[in-house]
Amino acid sequence: MLGSGSAGNSALVATDHCKILIDGGLSARQIILRLEQCGVLPEQLDGVLLTHEHGDHVCGLQVLCRKLDVPIYANSQTTEAVRCGCSLDQHRNWRIFRTGAEFAICDVTVQTFPVPHDAVDPVGFAFYAGSSSLGFVTDLGYATKMIVERLRQVHTLVIETNHDEKLLQSDTHRPWPVKQRIQSRHGHLSNNAAAMVIEELLPGRIDRVVLGHLSRDCNTPELALQTVREVLRKSGKIEIEVFCATQSEISPPFRIGETMRGHFQPTFENAFFPAA
Ligand SMILES: [Zn+2]
Ligand SMILES: [Zn+2]
Repeated sequence: MLGSGSAGNSALVATDHCKILIDGGLSARQIILRLEQCGVLPEQLDGVLLTHEHGDHVCGLQVLCRKLDVPIYANSQTTEAVRCGCSLDQHRNWRIFRTGAEFAICDVTVQTFPVPHDAVDPVGFAFYAGSSSLGFVTDLGYATKMIVERLRQVHTLVIETNHDEKLLQSDTHRPWPVKQRIQSRHGHLSNNAAAMVIEELLPGRIDRVVLGHLSRDCNTPELALQTVREVLRKSGKIEIEVFCATQSEISPPFRIGETMRGHFQPTFENAFFPAA
């Protein structure tokens, strides 16, 4: 996780052969800086995958892509919304997928599925590489049956714990309609709601949970961790690793599994020539 919270979100998924940025909701400078901390140059990215068009997921892309011709993967409605009225309409390299489609980026299979959230066509992802998989759902009002089904096979789950219900209710800065929006079925998962999704996945293969997209004012990592750990304790699954991502720093790298080193044959070699 390069950074996660209500002010900006970006994550890196990497194998020996492939580097995928999920969302670009930090400043371009921060994305580049934090990729560097992971030992990755922006030019090495094989793709940028977009969940949806909200600013906290795309705001750094305009500057990042000014000099970078990386393929941006998004569904058509999200692409349209992101390109509209900004310099990203100059970006030439788009890969448009249909929500629900499955496709490959190098040796990573990407499964997409719709999530309920107040954006044009928001999606979640399940990534498969080697024998391991990663589920990625931030920004969703609730988990549909299909989402739970898609996440049943994942080993590591990134899920939002946006707010603590009590802190949100007692918050004096947010007007009532905003609170309604956050709590609605097209808003965000509370700590409790996320814990219930995790509970549903416990019979599956899950062995790690990474919490993210915490509201700055209406949540704390302690509350989110405590809520999820309590559910795991009650279910007798205390061996499951739980981590809370933060806004200001990259998380430690999570090793999800092994891929076949050296086995993947890319169709093309990437070549970058400096300008003459
Ligand atoms: Zn968001
Ligand atoms: Zn959003």
